[in-house]
Amino acid sequence: MSERPRLTVLSGPSGVGKSTVVAHMRKEHPEVWLSVSATTRKPRPGEQHGVHYFFVTDDEMDKLIANGELLEWAEFAGNRYGTPRAAVLEHLEAGVPVLLEIDLQGARQVRESMPEAQLVFLAPPSWEELVRRLTGRGTEPPEVIERRLEAARIELAAEPEFDATLVNTSVEDVARELLALTDVV
Ligand code: ADP
Ligand code: 5GP
Repeated sequence: MSERPRLTVLSGPSGVGKSTVVAHMRKEHPEVWLSVSATTRKPRPGEQHGVHYFFVTDDEMDKLIANGELLEWAEFAGNRYGTPRAAVLEHLEAGVPVLLEIDLQGARQVRESMPEAQLVFLAPPSWEELVRRLTGRGTEPPEVIERRLEAARIELAAEPEFDATLVNTSVEDVARELLALTDVV
């Protein structure tokens, strides 16, 4: 059988370091394509439309969902997020490895619709460290941090559903391990 590019899904609790690890990996290996999600969340300082997310209104998100344009979507801590389907399929068909950075609900949907996808869980070294990172990032008010930590307990309990777990102690080490997993199969 010929080699085909891999679809890799990276999930893990908010604040564990998913964006940091992915950015580190892609700085050295831009050949791994990262899907840009649509979200109804407001941009954080420095986040750019079309780069970090497609920032959309509630109406626009309704339309994306109704038109079947999302491979998966979920509500997370009060906002909706979804993966545009066409770009993912185009990259896979062109032989490019694809990475999705999405929440647990989205990972479960991808597992259903694309069972060949590889699901990778990014875990914190400890609960205390997760709280420290999420709080230390300083991007969310306390009540939003609370909602994200509530979601984190559920996400951590789902770790056995994943094909591989990486513990984010060192960004460099995890980025290397993730790169090895995103290669062709
Ligand atoms: P996520 O994308 O999972 O929500 P971020 O990438 O925004 O998480 O990381 C959350 C915070 O943790 C950031 O302030 C980031 O700099 C920090 N961080 C990420 N990885 C590590 C690590 N291995 N050690 C220490 N701090 C980290
Ligand atoms: P944040 O608001 O911190 O950028 O993201 C919050 C959560 O939403 C994270 O767990 C992130 O992985 C997830 N997320 C980002 N994009 C998508 C997406 O397209 N679909 C799903 N299901 N989750 C996403």
